Amino acid sequence: MRRRGNSTGHRGRRPARGHRWRSRAGRWAAAGRGLLRATGAWSVPDATRAGIGMLLASAVLLTVDGLSTTYTGAALAFNVGLTVLLLGFALLLARHGPRLPPPSFLAIPLASSLMLTGMSFAKGQGDTAALLASTLPILYGAAILRPLGSYTLLAYNVASDAALTFGLLPPREAFRSMAYLLVVVGASSILITRGTTSTRELTALLREQAGVDTLTGLVTRRVLDETAHGALTAGQHTVGTALMLIDVDKFKTINDTLGHPVGDLALKHLAAVLAANTRPDCVIGRLGGDELAVLLPGCEYDVAIRRAEQLVEAVRGSPLELPGGGELPLSVSIGVAHAPTDGADLPGLYEAADGALYEAKRGGRGRSAHAKGVG
Ligand code: GH3
Ligand code: MG
Repeated sequence: MRRRGNSTGHRGRRPARGHRWRSRAGRWAAAGRGLLRATGAWSVPDATRAGIGMLLASAVLLTVDGLSTTYTGAALAFNVGLTVLLLGFALLLARHGPRLPPPSFLAIPLASSLMLTGMSFAKGQGDTAALLASTLPILYGAAILRPLGSYTLLAYNVASDAALTFGLLPPREAFRSMAYLLVVVGASSILITRGTTSTRELTALLREQAGVDTLTGLVTRRVLDETAHGALTAGQHTVGTALMLIDVDKFKTINDTLGHPVGDLALKHLAAVLAANTRPDCVIGRLGGDELAVLLPGCEYDVAIRRAEQLVEAVRGSPLELPGGGELPLSVSIGVAHAPTDGADLPGLYEAADGALYEAKRGGRGRSAHAKGVG
C-alpha cells in the first residue's frame, strides 16, 4: 500500500520557482502576520463584547458632558456627531465583530480615542474628567489585547493626554495631572496586561495539555490515538471501528492568496462543518496542518463510507463566509479505513486510511476513497 509523505506526516515538496523572491516576500508577510498577532485580541468574542461596552460607556460620558454643559452651534453638533459615531462603531462590532479583520480591535479604540481627544481640544477641556475618559480604551486594551496592542493604546492615550493638558492648562497643573495619570493609569494598565497575558498563556497551556487543538477546538492526535487504541483493544464494538483521514484540498493556495488568517478561519469552519455532520460519539481531531481525522467507534464499513461521501458534500455545500464579504468554496479529500477489515491495530488502520486518502487525492480531490478499494 502506498503511503503519502514521510513518517512525520509532512509531504516533501520541491522548492517553487522564484523561490528566493518568495522567501523574501514570505519573510515580510511573516513579519506582518507577527505584528498583527502581537497587537491583536486574545479572543475575538471577548474583544467584541468589551469593545461594545467601552464604546457605549464613552457615548454615555459624552451624553453626560452634553447635558451638563450648555453647548451651542458647532460644539453641540460635534458632541452629538461623535456620540452617534461611537454608537455606530458599537453597532458595527455587534453586527460584524467576529468577521472584522483582526487589526479592527486596535483600530476602533484608537480612532475613538483620537476623536475624543480632538473634541476635548476643540472645547478647551483639559480637566480631570477629560483625562478620565481616556482610561476606558486603556483598560480595554489591557484586558483584551495582546501586550503590544495594549501598550500601543496606553502610549497613544498618554501622549494625547499630555498634548491636551500641556496645551490647555498652566504648566504646573498639567504636570500634576499627567503625573497622576501616568502613575495610576500606567501602573493599572501594566498590571492588568501582565495578569491577562499570564492567564491567557496558562489557559492555552492547559488546553494543550488537555488535548485540545487551540485553533479548531478539536482534540489533538494524542487524544484521538488514545481513544482509537481503546476502541480497538477493548473489542466492545462488534461491528468494528472506522477511521477517516481528511485533508483540505489546495489549502496552501488559500493561505497564499487570501492570507494565513483566512486559512485559519477555513480550518475552524471545517471543524464546525464536520462536527455538525457526524454523530456525537464520533471523535474529531486535528492531526496537524490541514489534516483532520474522524474516528467512528462501533461503525460498519459501509456506513463509514457513506458518511465520508456525505462529509465531502457537506463541505462542498458550506463555503466559508469571508470577513470582507463573499464566499470561499472549500473542498476536502477523505480516506476511509475500517478495523478489523483493513488492519487490526492503530498503525495498520492509519496506513490503510492514508493509502485511501492518497487515492482520493490522486483521483481528482473533493472525493472520498476507502481502503477496501485500494489495490
Ligand atoms: P493538497 O490538495 O495536495 O492537500 O494541497 P495543499 O495545498 O492542501 O497541500 P498540503 O496539504 O501539503 O498543505 C498544507 C498547508 O497547510 C501547508 C501549511 O502552510 C498550511 N498550514 C499548516 N498549518 C496551518 C495553520 O495552522 N494555519 C494555516 N492557515 N495554515 C496551515
Ligand atoms: Mg491539503
